[in-house]
Amino acid sequence: MLDFDHAPITLTQQNVPVVAKSDVVVVGGGPAGVTAAISAARNGCSVTLIERYHHLGGMASGGMVLVLDDMCNDGEITTTGIVDEYVETMKSENGAVYPPPEDRLQSHEMWRKWSRWGCHDFRSTQDPMPIVYAVAFDPDAWKRASLKLVKEAGVNLRLHSWFSDAIVEDGKVKAIIVQTKTGRQAILADVFIDASGDLDLAIAAGAKYSKGQYIVTTVFRLSNVDTVAVDKFQYECPEEYRKIDRQARRIIGGAWDMWWLKTPLPGVVWCNCPHMPGYDGISVEDNTNAEYEGRRRMWALYEFVKANMPGFEKCHMLGAAEQVGVRQTRQLVGEYVVTKDDVTSRRYFEDTVCRGRDYYTPYRALLPKGIDNLIVAGRHYSAESEAQKMSREIPPCMVQGEASGVAASLALNGNLAFRDVDPKAIQKKMRAQNADPGDKPSENAGKRVT
Ligand SMILES: Cc1cc2nc3c(=O)[nH]c(=O)nc-3n(C[C@H](O)[C@H](O)[C@H](O)COP(=O)(O)OP(=O)(O)OC[C@H]3O[C@@H](n4cnc5c(N)ncnc54)[C@H](O)[C@@H]3O)c2cc1C
Repeated sequence: MLDFDHAPITLTQQNVPVVAKSDVVVVGGGPAGVTAAISAARNGCSVTLIERYHHLGGMASGGMVLVLDDMCNDGEITTTGIVDEYVETMKSENGAVYPPPEDRLQSHEMWRKWSRWGCHDFRSTQDPMPIVYAVAFDPDAWKRASLKLVKEAGVNLRLHSWFSDAIVEDGKVKAIIVQTKTGRQAILADVFIDASGDLDLAIAAGAKYSKGQYIVTTVFRLSNVDTVAVDKFQYECPEEYRKIDRQARRIIGGAWDMWWLKTPLPGVVWCNCPHMPGYDGISVEDNTNAEYEGRRRMWALYEFVKANMPGFEKCHMLGAAEQVGVRQTRQLVGEYVVTKDDVTSRRYFEDTVCRGRDYYTPYRALLPKGIDNLIVAGRHYSAESEAQKMSREIPPCMVQGEASGVAASLALNGNLAFRDVDPKAIQKKMRAQNADPGDKPSENAGKRVT
């Protein structure tokens, strides 16, 4: 609440320099946006990718979200394509770790070996949860892989460019405006992909949306942890471990059971906490308060585990992620809105162009109503809030990106509005590029998750 009244300030019209022109503009360099840009470029389009920060990766790097999951439906890997290239690029630099196929099973031995990497089916009701294909990675390896793939694809990358407005004429986006240190700049294109995560471009272009909210998290890492000693303590003194662990989770005030996980860097652990409800992830005030509150809580946890948890005695606070972890803000209300029931009943759609785990995403859920040359990809896709909470992991967002890039090339080549692009053509192209569009339903499609 402001403690003063003031009339809004009216801005004067401005001439803005045009700094780029391409077939496609992608707004947002997170997992969905980078994949969309690479995909469109590989399919023959000239592409400009704009990102507000100094790095690529969004939540996967700046937000330090360090496990790729929701990648398989029991033993079947369901998210493939550019996401695989990321994994292998990072692995070649020791920046990614995942269980080999022979370890992906349910046993106490494998649980002990892999659960601290976050490579388990965390939605399973079995005890212990099965080990599955999931990938623990290093955030800087993600940034390097992004830059490498973007460069190789010939994408015109413009960092430090904050999308601020869209120029729309006759139901089409003509240009976007970005704010930079040297003033506003305009970028022209024929088609646009919104991968901002918060629907910034689509809303500026007049798309309908719903507001959502979920916990926010200032993720952080601790270094110099003796993970062998903690493991020994956990399995040899389970009662004592549980007691300290419970207290640690109380102090951080909201965390998953596995509040710390191993990373590819020896002795560095990832703490995917605290979970803080009630924050609006697009509010300046809330995001500022989250930095204060998150850092207060993470320091309290650090002091507690250093003093009490075997293996953490000599740990250091490596620091929080560059950006507060925001899971949900605004969802598109597009040509189709994915419901919670769609996700939990594993509903299959004829126009599926992406899937994660065992759920399917129809092409229509990427399409805003009434804007011909705009498509969205990523966590802000057209879904109910409760559905998005279950279907927003990094790998499926990347497959959405890959599908949107393919759709952009088809729209341009056929001079079509996005809604007139044939989803079957997208599926076919994605298959040819080793990406699974989810066009072939799995055996459990349509069967409710129990
Ligand atoms: C704390 C936390 C834990 C999570 N845990 C997991 C997990 O373990 N595994 C998993 O797979 N997923 C996890 N997720 C979910 C996952 O990280 C996100 O859903 C995913 O990153 C979404 O990708 P995206 O590209 O749609 O959006 P984002 O990652 O949010 O990327 C959006 C990009 O757009 C840029 N951008 C935004 N606005 C503008 C603008 N106006 N101008 C220019 N650029 C802009 C951003 O800087 C960013 O680079 C977690 C999320 C959080 C927050």
